[in-house]
Formats: sequence, structure tokens, C-alpha cells
Amino acid sequence: MVIDTRYCIGCKNCVLACSQANGIVDGAWRKMEALGEPEFPDRKRHFLTRACMHCESPPCMNVCPTTATYRRQDGIVAVDPDKCVGCGACILACPYDARVLYTPQDDFENGRPGDKQREGTCTKCHFCMPRIEKGIEKGLKPGVDPDATPLCVATCCTGALHFGDLDDPDSEVSALIENNPTLRLSETLGTKPAVFYIID
Ligand code: SF4
Ligand code: SF4
Repeated sequence: MVIDTRYCIGCKNCVLACSQANGIVDGAWRKMEALGEPEFPDRKRHFLTRACMHCESPPCMNVCPTTATYRRQDGIVAVDPDKCVGCGACILACPYDARVLYTPQDDFENGRPGDKQREGTCTKCHFCMPRIEKGIEKGLKPGVDPDATPLCVATCCTGALHFGDLDDPDSEVSALIENNPTLRLSETLGTKPAVFYIID
């Protein structure tokens, strides 16, 4: 994923899209932070949207005692709810605050039926894995066709969010990284996030 912070206006469309797509509370998986100086005359705002970084070397996976957390061949870091015992080790290990323990009560309060299968398990952004897989089954291409692309990306109203194959030098995400100054959050930790931010 590539997030072009120059275009993000902090509208939180991505946060709402995430909760709708995945049946979770607003802000549980994707968060939006406003940074900078809010007051006139020095007013200057920056917005940071963030969720799981799908680290190439994920601390959450390395501490999981039941192998519930795993990294797929395509780079998505996923959680198997049938194996997760909700011990919370991954929540503590993730340096990006990307994980939450799922409680159906949160859904009830938001007017949605709770998901019993996920109760007491750790959840997090999975790059809208079911949506991507359904799209691929229909012959669509993730990052190109909206129906095979994470909903936060597909619904971003300013085109700040991009998604695709980082191993394909011809993909849009590869071109964006090639042609712009980028950073990854807390790079010094060695987690190798798969989310790149284009900065001013
Ligand atoms: Fe794991 Fe956190 Fe990295 Fe996501 S951001 S892969 S939850 S360590
Ligand atoms: Fe949420 Fe999907 Fe975006 Fe991840 S990729 S933050 S699960 S909408």
C-alpha cells in the first residue's frame, strides 16, 4: 500500500469504509491522526491514516504461541480465528498499535450483529483479504479494479491511497515509490512494513 499524504484531507472516509467492510468499530483497524499546528496564524495540518503495516518481518507473528498469525505468499499478514486463543501477545508485540481484541459488544453498540466466531480473538486489517480474493476469482486485478481492491483505497475521495503488487515493477505502487520520496513508519525497528508514505 502507498499512502500519498499530500492528498489526504483527513476526511476519515477510509476509517468508515474499513468498519463497514469488515464489521468492526470505527477506528479499530484503520485510524486517522491529525498532526501539526491547528491554530491560526501558524495553522498547518497533516493527516496520518494507518492500519496494519503487513510487515515483512512481523513481530506479532513471531510471538504468537499458536501460529494463528501467519504471513501469506502474497505478503498479507493474516490471523486464523480458529487458532487464536486471544492471549494478547501480538497486541503487545505490534509496534504500530494495529491489533485489537474483538468483542461482539462493540458491534452491538454500533447497531450490528456481533460475530461470535471472532469473539475473544485478535483482529486487525487484513488488506480486505476476502474482498481481494473474491475479485481475483472474477478475474479482476487488485489495485486496478476497485472490486478487487481494499475498500479504504477504493473509496478514498482524493485518491491518496494506492494498492498493488510491490514485486511488479510496472505496478502503480512501484512507480509511485520509484518517483517520490517515501518513508515507512519506525523503519529502524527492522519490521519492513509494506505500507509506504509519500511525504511532502
Ligand atoms: Fe503485525 Fe503490527 Fe506489523 Fe501488522 S503492523 S504485521 S499487526 S507487527
Ligand atoms: Fe480496513 Fe481493508 Fe483498509 Fe485494511 S485494507 S484498513 S481492512 S478497509
